Amino acid sequence: MNIHEYQGKEILRQYGVSVPNGRVAFTVEEAVEAAKELGTDVVVVKAQIHAGGRGKAGGVKVAKNLDEARTYAAEILGKTLITHQTGPEGKEVKRLLIEEGCDIKKEYYIGLVLDRDTSRVVLMASEEGGTEIEEVAEKTPEKIFKEVIDPVVGLTGFQARRIAFNINIPKELVNKAVKFMLGLYTAFVEKDCSIAEINPLVITGDGNVMALDAKMNFDDNALFRHKDILEYRDLDEEDPKEIEASKYDLSYISLTGNIGCMVNGAGLAMSTMDIIKHYSGDPANFLDVGGGATAEKVTEAFKIILSDKNVKGIFVNIFGGIMKCDVIAEGVVEAAKQLGLDVPVVVRLEGTNVDLGKQILKDSGLNLTPAESMADGAQKIVSLVG
Ligand code: ADP
Ligand code: MG
Repeated sequence: MNIHEYQGKEILRQYGVSVPNGRVAFTVEEAVEAAKELGTDVVVVKAQIHAGGRGKAGGVKVAKNLDEARTYAAEILGKTLITHQTGPEGKEVKRLLIEEGCDIKKEYYIGLVLDRDTSRVVLMASEEGGTEIEEVAEKTPEKIFKEVIDPVVGLTGFQARRIAFNINIPKELVNKAVKFMLGLYTAFVEKDCSIAEINPLVITGDGNVMALDAKMNFDDNALFRHKDILEYRDLDEEDPKEIEASKYDLSYISLTGNIGCMVNGAGLAMSTMDIIKHYSGDPANFLDVGGGATAEKVTEAFKIILSDKNVKGIFVNIFGGIMKCDVIAEGVVEAAKQLGLDVPVVVRLEGTNVDLGKQILKDSGLNLTPAESMADGAQKIVSLVG
């Protein structure tokens, strides 16, 4: 799960990580009020969306007085920001962070990520702050320093100091930078983060080490033990189809292609996407209806696929093990009855109650194309969507 910058900063504050004072605002009036309350000469008006690259897209503006704060708040609120992380359709700004202007002396990068190769948390840092870390990694990889963290010991003081020296934090600020990194690490572990990225971390004119930006992602599987984090969820930032799917406990991920996939089992879902790609098609989604799905769940899953305007055809690929083919067939027929079917559907069924399932589909009078195998089905749906 993803949260907003201002929420990430609230968490960091609890861990002694220094961040600028700031307030969230949902309207222009609230933004002006927040700027007044902060009482600093300069405030920064920051778009809150679940994507980075806001600065370059005009979503971060420095206001030198209340009038400017009002002007920028009015300009950014309601605007659709297109950044390299939003996709071409962009994201509408519905919240602002009004923050104390910070006297930046230098920008750095600090990030904690889970490294899947070593199965360890890795602390990454660079003197090249403010720019995308992917760009630094590509052009000047020698400017990125890493510390692999032992989960039993945690991030040690000497590792944090080594990072601070490597990225040339001024000597007199090394202790503050170390405290910053240790606080960040504790937050990462205690809140079950998958990413905690501070870009930029800055040193200020008055000798502070601060997080000016905060990107935090959380492991969905651990959210049950973090009610406080769950309250940060902003459904406006999520794909409505994925929200709908999560209500029915379906594993659904929206993709950009035009072939809807209805599959049981994550492995089969992955290989279904592969075989569609193999025959030059493009999947519109990943969907695993799970092992013990009911006809109702299958109906909902099929409705979600049909609600996707990009879907030009559907491939139902089921291997009935625990899942029974007749249950799937009932679900498909029910959804088609409720919503109508105006796209081609190819069905490949195999396994438990396969004959019963095929019979139900046949009796339904729906225009379905049967397939004999995965390859056959993939080829058929690819050619049907053209
Ligand atoms: P994004 O990464 O989405 O572009 P950031 O929060 O990193 O957004 O802001 C972009 C840039 O704006 C920062 O690199 C920094 O130079 C400047 N900035 C952000 N917040 C402040 C602030 N409170 N005071 C001064 N400058 C800021
Ligand atoms: Mg940033």
